Amino acid sequence: MAEPRPKILVVDDSRTQLEWLVAVLQREGFDVRSAATGKEAILKVRTEAPDLVLLDMILPDMDGLEVLRLVKARPDDQFIPVIILSVKSDLDSKVTGLRIGADDFLAKPFAEQEILARCAAMLRIKTLQDQLRATQHKLEEQSITDGLTGLKNRRLFDERLDEEFRRAQRYADPVSLIMIDLDHFKLVNDRHGHQMGDMVLREAAACIRASIREPDICARYGGEEFAVILPKTHLGGALTVAERIWREIGGKVFRQEVTEGGSARPVEVHVTASLGLAFFPSKDITSSALLVKFADEALYQAKHLGRNNICLYQAQNYQVAPGEP
Ligand code: GH3
Ligand code: MG
Ligand code: MG
Repeated sequence: MAEPRPKILVVDDSRTQLEWLVAVLQREGFDVRSAATGKEAILKVRTEAPDLVLLDMILPDMDGLEVLRLVKARPDDQFIPVIILSVKSDLDSKVTGLRIGADDFLAKPFAEQEILARCAAMLRIKTLQDQLRATQHKLEEQSITDGLTGLKNRRLFDERLDEEFRRAQRYADPVSLIMIDLDHFKLVNDRHGHQMGDMVLREAAACIRASIREPDICARYGGEEFAVILPKTHLGGALTVAERIWREIGGKVFRQEVTEGGSARPVEVHVTASLGLAFFPSKDITSSALLVKFADEALYQAKHLGRNNICLYQAQNYQVAPGEP
């Protein structure tokens, strides 16, 4: 696929100057857009996301500096370089422009080669900036994602639970937490190997993800343990979600080709899960750490009662007995 041509927005109220600049840049192969007023320029920056803006300082409807300020104050993290075009004598607007955040300036009148060279230089910086931002974004994502399952990791979970708990306290909203632990998972590894174990973890994670809604946060809490935060969700809603997860995992057949002694054979595994649930507001739950502690206790209770079930923390635990998956 051909690289998209860099998009340059030229802003100038002088028609001859504008036409000349557009022609020069088009000849060089750029995708050129133009604007003759400040208002039009701001609109085009917003709607057409140019890679570079050439901005005249004197415009009929507003000061070029004002346009610059608005271009540079865009809330998204897109870097849009701006080259200001000013007359040689206008030292003030040149200096202020650079202070506000212009990336370069060109003094009128300018030669064709100089414009092209400056545009090329600016676009190189823009490309590097974009790559840097993309890498940074990827690293940020990786730092909060569990590599095996693609769910959020423990670090993100701790942060978000804290936030959600504080929000719930402040606005007297409910928040629920479900802890999920696969039953006898060690046996899967022992019988079928770690690869099969990893596949089961990935697919169990997919079952959990499929059982929740967009504002809910699901994370891999540790080895074969997962956690789901349900903001603004009270007991009833949380139980419905827990039951859906329990049913999804318990009802799934995990299949994989396993190679042994040079020949591949399909292996099927069934796995069940134990779930512990706690919610705020509840007696004794006054912090996110306590919400985890009590959801964990409920999970422990679920294990203790024979696994493959859901327990709910209340001042006293009680077992929920859903139907067969
Ligand atoms: P229980 O029903 O009491 O939860 O028993 P269990 O076997 O599930 O629990 P236990 O804590 O004894 O063992 C957890 C197992 O999970 C042991 C560990 O090897 C496995 N495990 C943890 N992380 C991973 C992983 O990333 N990949 C694989 N394949 N296995 C993992
Ligand atoms: Mg387990
Ligand atoms: Mg465990």
